[in-house]
Amino acid sequence: MRVLGIETSCDETAAAIVERDADGHGRILSNVVLSQIEEHAPYGGVVPEIAARAHVEVLDRLVSQALQEAHMTLDDVDAVAATAGPGLIGGLIVGLMTGKAIAMAGRKPFFAINHLEGHALTPRLTDRIDFPYLLLLVSGGHTQMVLVKGLGDYERLGTTVDDALGEAFDKTAKLLGLPYPGGPEVEKAALLGDRARFTLPRPMKGEERLDFSFSGLKTAVRQLATTLEPLSQTDVNDICAAFQAAVADTLDDRVSRSLMRFRQSFPDVFEPSLVVAGGVAANKELRARLQRLCSDDGFRFIAPPMELCTDNAAMIAWAGAERAGFAPADTFDIAPRSRWPLDMQSAPLIGAGR
Ligand code: ATP
Ligand code: MG
Ligand code: FE
Repeated sequence: MRVLGIETSCDETAAAIVERDADGHGRILSNVVLSQIEEHAPYGGVVPEIAARAHVEVLDRLVSQALQEAHMTLDDVDAVAATAGPGLIGGLIVGLMTGKAIAMAGRKPFFAINHLEGHALTPRLTDRIDFPYLLLLVSGGHTQMVLVKGLGDYERLGTTVDDALGEAFDKTAKLLGLPYPGGPEVEKAALLGDRARFTLPRPMKGEERLDFSFSGLKTAVRQLATTLEPLSQTDVNDICAAFQAAVADTLDDRVSRSLMRFRQSFPDVFEPSLVVAGGVAANKELRARLQRLCSDDGFRFIAPPMELCTDNAAMIAWAGAERAGFAPADTFDIAPRSRWPLDMQSAPLIGAGR
């Protein structure tokens, strides 16, 4: 089965064709992503109105390009999948309407996909792993620890109570006068800095519940920066190093507790896996820390290739393809949802929870 996927929930417009064979193995036939970073950079963050307009302007062309790169026409597509939420409502409307229109015109089954489910199922496309597994999603809009028990069966173990981790990187960068997006800039500066010069808080560390919090860390950076004004390049580097060290320690604590929780829930899983996804997963220090933690605890550490960790349409097409194998198509009256928690899916379709 070949599925056309469409993603427009945030600041990437994307279209892709993915194939799922009878054994459940996936293959990406094309994967086109157009980032709007340059359009939003002057504002230091994503502007919803600009995002929605940009999606309208380029989506048709991207769908054609995805078909062309897969050497296909619409006739060769068996189903259409589009992100229906969560995300910025203007962009969601553009992608969902386009997906429905293509499906309706071509008389194809249509699947409305939860963006987070796309992230959650990606390792089954890239690494063919079985349920259940743990997912740490760390992006500009989300910070969640999810127990992926089966298809359509997700339990959110913890989430951020304030800022997302990528957002904390972006805001910290802005405070220090570094350009947007801030994550890669903070990482670069941190490499040159002295992580021991300043000590920043480790929010939530030691707490029993598995949630995250990053706004206190950002406030601590602001206070520190104010006392040091005017900031030298060395100050900026040292603050970035201290920030990243604090984030790494916090993640280490939250994740090691989650691994423990997984073992309690699934004592019989022989080789459990932790999957990371989201733009922050590009950070080498954080990745190395998580990798070490996993190898110490007997977990497989899986980080899909970067282009599949950040927003893309291959993950949406894949989620559609997985659903198509086990569930009826969605009806055309389904509406976009700016909020749509992952654990509010329909009934479990396959997996450990069923
Ligand atoms: P969503 O939250 O809807 O999935 P998004 O566009 O906000 O989408 P992504 O595209 O997955 O998120 O990732 C972007 C975020 O990742 C930004 O906040 C960016 O600063 C952060 N990021 C990117 N590279 C790094 C890095 N090397 N270190 C830390 N953070 C990074
Ligand atoms: Mg993005
Ligand atoms: Fe995303």
